[in-house]
Amino acid sequence: MAYSSIFYLFSHFFVQLLSIGGTEQAMPTLGPHLNGVHKSVEDSLLKHIYLSFDDGPNLGTSNCIRVCSKQKVAATYFEVGFHLAGNRKGQRLYQEILKNDSLFALCNHSFSHAYSKYLTYYHHPQEAFADFMLAESLLQSKNNIVRLPGNNAWNTTEVKRASGLVRPLVQQLDSANFNIIGWDMEWRFNKKGRPIKSPEAIAGLVDSLFKFNLTVTKNHLVILMHDHMFRAAEDSIKLDKMIALLKQNSRYRFEKLTHYPGLKN
Ligand SMILES: [Zn+2]
Repeated sequence: MAYSSIFYLFSHFFVQLLSIGGTEQAMPTLGPHLNGVHKSVEDSLLKHIYLSFDDGPNLGTSNCIRVCSKQKVAATYFEVGFHLAGNRKGQRLYQEILKNDSLFALCNHSFSHAYSKYLTYYHHPQEAFADFMLAESLLQSKNNIVRLPGNNAWNTTEVKRASGLVRPLVQQLDSANFNIIGWDMEWRFNKKGRPIKSPEAIAGLVDSLFKFNLTVTKNHLVILMHDHMFRAAEDSIKLDKMIALLKQNSRYRFEKLTHYPGLKN
């Protein structure tokens, strides 16, 4: 192979890797081999994709529900209690997700989303834990899966990944029998809150992560997106397109995160 071709492959791959991690977190997240957690949980050619939409209910949520329902693909919504409290439209959207239990899972993404003051939030783990419990009482989710605001921590029976900053909160959530799920890749948004990459690029990244075995759990891939990215009709079409592209692969299966391997009961 010519030197230029090798260079292209490496540089292209490196650019792809930079897309992983995303705006939810301050720390590098790539590293499926951390703590020896890279496990093959099944001998199967199937690849499991978990679409996850964060920070709703908000203006983009109805489009996410509509597109996933139309495509008949499972998805997980990490909801912020604050967006639900006192907001009738948010409550209606929430009920819409809740009643479609066969396709959708609702999970706790805290009450306040740390009000975007992540350092302060994680430096006060007792208050942060109380914040999650407040959201739990509001959201009444039917599972014990949470996602930390602005941080790609993981804590299940098989995957343990938490920085020193968030570890005290992770330990409290663990003691209270919660699973914490982060993500393998993010479809990022720009300053206007619109998707940066094309559906083709995102579907290609999914293919690459599976191909090069770069997911936290082998053959299982969690995509982070944010509801608000798809509030405009033209952007919801991109979500639809991305899902349609992935569905072309007969080995891909869309799952709710309640089906992710290694969860505590
Ligand atoms: Zn979030």
